[in-house]
Amino acid sequence: MQRIIFFLFSYFFFSSVVFSQWYQDTFKVMGTLSHVEFWLDDYQHRLTQVDNQQQARTLLLAVKEEMFRIDQQMSPYKQQSELSRINRLASSQAVKISQELFDLLTVAQDISRLSEGAFDITYASVGYQYNYRERKKPSQSDITKALPAINYQSIILDRKQKTIRFKHADVRIDLGGIAKGYAVKRCLEILKKAGIEHALVSAGGDTGLLGDRRGRPWLVGIKHPRADHKTAVHIPLVDEAISTSGDYERYFIEDGVRYHHIINPKTGDSARAVVSVSVIGKDPTYVDALSTTVFVKGLKEGLALIEKLPEFETIIIDKNQRLHFSSGLQP
Ligand code: ADP
Ligand code: MG
Repeated sequence: MQRIIFFLFSYFFFSSVVFSQWYQDTFKVMGTLSHVEFWLDDYQHRLTQVDNQQQARTLLLAVKEEMFRIDQQMSPYKQQSELSRINRLASSQAVKISQELFDLLTVAQDISRLSEGAFDITYASVGYQYNYRERKKPSQSDITKALPAINYQSIILDRKQKTIRFKHADVRIDLGGIAKGYAVKRCLEILKKAGIEHALVSAGGDTGLLGDRRGRPWLVGIKHPRADHKTAVHIPLVDEAISTSGDYERYFIEDGVRYHHIINPKTGDSARAVVSVSVIGKDPTYVDALSTTVFVKGLKEGLALIEKLPEFETIIIDKNQRLHFSSGLQP
C-alpha cells in the first residue's frame, strides 16, 4: 500500500519534470537547411507523456508547414508562386496581391530607402542571370543592358487597391534577401502563441530566438567565412534575432574573382568589400534585410548605417578576416 501511495505521489509530483523537454527538427526548405527547437513545459499538467509529445509534434509540424507555405508564395523558382505571377504581369498591369506580400514588400521598400538603394529587390533583373551552381554569370554587356531595370523606385505599391505595378518593362523582383527572416519571424509567432517561452528557429543564416536557453543565453555561432565547419565567433543572445550574409554560401571563383549571391544594385556585380556581415536586433525580417544591406555597403558605410539605427548591432568580417563590432557590442 505504502509503495502504491509513494508511486502515485511521485507520478504526480515528478510528472511535469519528466515530461517537460526540448524538441527539435531539421529540414530542407527555401534552398537551405531550417532548424527549430523549443522547450515544451508541462505547464498544463498533462497526465501522460503521449499528450506532451502530441503537442510537440503538432507544433513542429506547424512550423514546418509555415516555412513551406512561405516558400510556395515567395519562391521565384515556382511558376505558380505569387511572386512569379507578379514578375510575369506587373510590368503590363497593376497586379492584385495578398495583404501579407504587400506588407513584406512595404518593408523591403522601407529598407531600400533607408539604405539608399543598397538593398533593392529589383536587383533580380541581373540576379536571375547568375547561376552559381553552373558557374554562369552575365557578360558586362548583359549587365549594362539590365541595369536600368534595377531601381526600387520603379515598384509602385498601391496601398488602397493592394496592387503592385512596375514602371519599367524589365523589372523583376526577388525576396531572397528578406523572405527567410520573415519566415523565421512567423514561426516564432506560432510558437509564442502556443505558450512556448524558449525557442530557436533558423533558416540558413537567419536565426530568431524566444527567451533564453533556460537559465543561460543561446550561443549563436557566426561561421568562419573561409573554413567550412569552423566558427569565427559565438554570440550569447536572449530574445533577439541574428542574420548572417556571407560570400561563401553560393559562389564560384573564376580567374581569381569570387562571384556570389549578394549583388551591388549599382554595378550588377557581386559586392566584394567584406566577406561576412551579421546583424542583430529584435525583428528577424529587418535583421535579414539589413545583413544583406550592410554587406553591399561595406565596412565604413555599413557600420555608419547601423550606428544610426539604435535597435540594431552588427559584426562585420573584412577581407583580411578581421572582426569589426558596432558600438553597442564593444566591451
Ligand atoms: P542568404 O540568402 O544566404 O541567407 P542573404 O540574407 O545575404 O543570404 O541574402 C542574399 C540573397 O538576397 C541573395 O541570394 C538574393 O536572393 C538577394 N539579394 C542579393 N543582392 C541583393 C540586394 N542588393 N538587395 C536585395 N536582395 C539581394
Ligand atoms: Mg539577408
